[in-house]
Amino acid sequence: DLYNMVQDLKGNIRVYCRIRPAFGTETRSTVDHIGDDGSLVVVDPLKPSKEVRKIFNFNQVFGPTSTQDEVYKETQPLIRSVMDGYNVCIFAYGQTGSGKTHTMCGPSGESSKDMGINYLALNDLFQLSCTRKDIVDYDIQVQMVEIYNEQLEIRSCTSNGGLSLPDAKMYVVKSSADVLSLMKLGELNRFVSSTAMNIQSSRSHSVLTVHVNGKDTSGSILRSCLHLVDLAGSERVDKSEVTGDRLKEAQHINKSLSCLGDVITALAQKNSHIPYRNSKLTQLLQDSLGGHAKTLMFAHVSPEADSYGETISTLKFAQRVS
Ligand code: ADP
Ligand code: MG
Repeated sequence: DLYNMVQDLKGNIRVYCRIRPAFGTETRSTVDHIGDDGSLVVVDPLKPSKEVRKIFNFNQVFGPTSTQDEVYKETQPLIRSVMDGYNVCIFAYGQTGSGKTHTMCGPSGESSKDMGINYLALNDLFQLSCTRKDIVDYDIQVQMVEIYNEQLEIRSCTSNGGLSLPDAKMYVVKSSADVLSLMKLGELNRFVSSTAMNIQSSRSHSVLTVHVNGKDTSGSILRSCLHLVDLAGSERVDKSEVTGDRLKEAQHINKSLSCLGDVITALAQKNSHIPYRNSKLTQLLQDSLGGHAKTLMFAHVSPEADSYGETISTLKFAQRVS
């Protein structure tokens, strides 16, 4: 359809930046200006002269007041293209505390208000599968996987067999209620993230994969998948301060995030060699990165002064892959 034609012309990789609100005592902001054209100007708020302004350009920039619905509205066409047979990967990148889990899952805490992309996307796919008359026998299944220290950790151990991740349980989605209860399961993750400063979740990549199968009226098979990835925190740890397991974790995270950056950059540059094999994450997602697949990276930043260094490094990373 028209949307996909326009997007194909734009290329298959896009980058959105999202700036979370400032909390409590965080007052000085690194954000100087957000343009409607996807430009973002940042400034080091601790440097008195405002001469050092850095300008970045993305497909979209969502400021601190942007709502979950506004963000989802700009994501929905990509989600809907899964129903047309496209594989789609959506990544949340950024330092710990910058809002990755907020975008993908929703706010921390009990309420199911302000649900994030995971829920809205699944619900959308489910609703679409009920309304589209040209495709029959829809089947939507979901898997949750975690990658920690370059090891694939399967969230649930019940085996279903024969799938791309044979040990990861597939959850069949047959109603909106199923979607909700699945998200409740995902809250296990959120519980971890709200304790002890995100310790575990910030050090692993959390991947929610939605498999869609269907048949069109002529009998041909539709098969596609959507990967929703809440990446490990991108913050650099001070090597002089960490040792042992903590250092090992940090090195694995650096490696896999830079591998992801290398893969997306190579795809954007249409290189003949794409280095998928350099990390578990890119191996896992290989079929959904490149080719006709569509990729969206959310670069998350915190606006406060203390995060200036990490903000610049996140924005540079995101700029490199776009
Ligand atoms: P990350 O997953 O990157 O470590 P979180 O998503 O856990 O970060 O966000 C840190 C805190 O900030 C959480 O309490 C979260 O609910 C809140 N938060 C993040 N982004 C937003 C936003 N856009 N609006 C409101 N609260 C947010
Ligand atoms: Mg998180």
